[in-house]
Amino acid sequence: MPLNPAQSDESTIVARATPLPYARQTIDESDIAAVVETLRSPYLTTGPRVHEFEASMQAEIGVEHAVAVSSGTAALHAAMHAIGIGQGDQVILPPMTFAATANAIVFQGATPQFVDVDAETLLLDPAALEPAINSNTRAIIAVDYAGQPCDYDAIRAIAGKHRLPIIADACHSLGGACDGRNVGMLADITTFSFHPVKPITTCEGGMCVTADQRLADRMRQFRNHGIAGDHHERARRGTWRYEMTDIGYNYRLSDVHAALGTSQLRKLGRWQNRRQAIARTYDAAFVEIDGLTPIAVRAGVTHAQHLYVVKIDADRFGMTRDEVFDAMRARGICCNVHYLPVHLHPFYRDRLGTRPGICPVAETAAEQILSLPMFASMDDQDVDDVIASLHQVAMEARR
Ligand SMILES: *Cc1c(COP(=O)(O)O)cnc(C)c1O
Repeated sequence: MPLNPAQSDESTIVARATPLPYARQTIDESDIAAVVETLRSPYLTTGPRVHEFEASMQAEIGVEHAVAVSSGTAALHAAMHAIGIGQGDQVILPPMTFAATANAIVFQGATPQFVDVDAETLLLDPAALEPAINSNTRAIIAVDYAGQPCDYDAIRAIAGKHRLPIIADACHSLGGACDGRNVGMLADITTFSFHPVKPITTCEGGMCVTADQRLADRMRQFRNHGIAGDHHERARRGTWRYEMTDIGYNYRLSDVHAALGTSQLRKLGRWQNRRQAIARTYDAAFVEIDGLTPIAVRAGVTHAQHLYVVKIDADRFGMTRDEVFDAMRARGICCNVHYLPVHLHPFYRDRLGTRPGICPVAETAAEQILSLPMFASMDDQDVDDVIASLHQVAMEARR
C-alpha cells in the first residue's frame, strides 16, 4: 500500500494512505441482491420480509417473540412502553451508554436514575444496584457495553426481590452469550440496533425480543400507531375497520431493510469469529505496553466484540487518552470514545441537575477509554497497522 509521509515535530509519522475507520459495515453481493429483489416485490413495508427477519432472529437466539422496529432507539422506547413506564417513574441505567438509552426513559415522561459501573468491565455494577432502588424505581436497563453481556444472574437476584423488570440494551451484543445462554434470553425484553456500526445492519433498524407474548403484543401495537391488528389481519377478516386502542408511533421497519437484515444475519457467526480473532491479536500485541489495559471480560462470557476498548493510564503511558487519540489519527487510525457518561450531557445536567461525582467509576473511566478500530471486514494489514501505530505512539509517549 502506498504510504504518505507526514511531518511531526520530532520524527516522521507514516500515515495510512486511506484512514482506517473505527467501525464499518460489511455488505456483500447477496445483501445487495436481497434488497433489489424486495424492491421488485409487491411489498415495500409490513410484508413478508419483516416476518421472515423476525423469524430468523427468533431462531438465531432461541427466543419466542421478535418485534422489528425502525431503530435501536425505537426498540428501547417500545420496551419502556410495554412494561408500562410513565410519568413519575424512575428507571435505573448505567451512564456508560449511548444517550438513546436514557432518552427512551424520558420519552415516556419518566426519570433516568444513573447507577455506576464496575471499574473492570464498565458494566452495570450489581453491588451499586440495590442501594439505588427506591419506591419510584420501576425497571432496570442493563447495557451490554462493548458487546459483553452483563452479570444478569446478579442483576436478576436484586431485581427479583423488588419485582423490577430487566431490559437488556443489547445494541452491542447480538451474538453474545453468558454461560451458554444467548443474549436475547437473559432479560425480560432485549433490544437490538442495526445501525451500520453494529454487529449486523439494516442501515437503520432495531428489534425487541422477549419470551412474553403480552409484552410482544404491546410492542407490536406500539410500532404501528397503537392500532390493534395490522392490514394482513384486516384482509383476513375482510374488513377495512381498524381501531387505535393505545398511543403508538410509526416505528415500523420496511421490508427492504428487513431483507437486508435477514441476509446479514446469516453471516453473523462468521463475522463474530473474525471480531474475536482480531481481539485476541490485539490482546497479545498490547500486553507489554505499560499503562494500556483492555477492558476485562467476565468468565463464562461469549463476547460479541462490537467494540475493542482499552483504558489508558496517562501517568504510566506517558500521554493522555486525548493525546493518544490525536496521535493515532495522525497515523490514519481513527479511534473513538464510548462514551461521555450520559448524565454529563448538557441536557441531563439541565434537566436532572446531574453533576460529576454521582458515578465516579464511569467518570474516571471516561477520561481513559479509547475504542480501537474493530469490524469484521478489517484485513490483517489493517490490524497490523493499528498495532504498529499504537506501539509507535507508546514509544513516542516515553521519549
Ligand atoms: C446504537 C445504540 C443505541 C441506539 O440505536 P439506534 O439504532 O442508533 O437508534 C442504543 N443503545 C446503545 C448502547 C447503542 O449502542
